[in-house]
Amino acid sequence: MTREFEHYQGCRNRDPENCGACALTDLRQSKPNYEGWPLAYMENGRTVPAKWREAFYDEFKSTDNPAYAANLRATLAKHGVRFTESKRGVTERIYAVD
Ligand SMILES: [Zn+2]
Repeated sequence: MTREFEHYQGCRNRDPENCGACALTDLRQSKPNYEGWPLAYMENGRTVPAKWREAFYDEFKSTDNPAYAANLRATLAKHGVRFTESKRGVTERIYAVD
């Protein structure tokens, strides 16, 4: 377990420019403003908001950084990922991309 999701002391949970935890969780963003954010979610067993599902899978298509893409796939195979859903709560844990 790592500490990416802990806000700095005094953070009001709306500071994605300066706070990693905010950058990883602030849903006003089209995707988290945090390098390698899917790794942080998977390694911490955090459920990815449905809003960012497409952005999550887009990270796997990184062709300019094959080592990163390989790391994503290995981490997904090890930890899996879940997404929130509007109706049923949370999806089944997923362990591979197409
Ligand atoms: Zn914060």
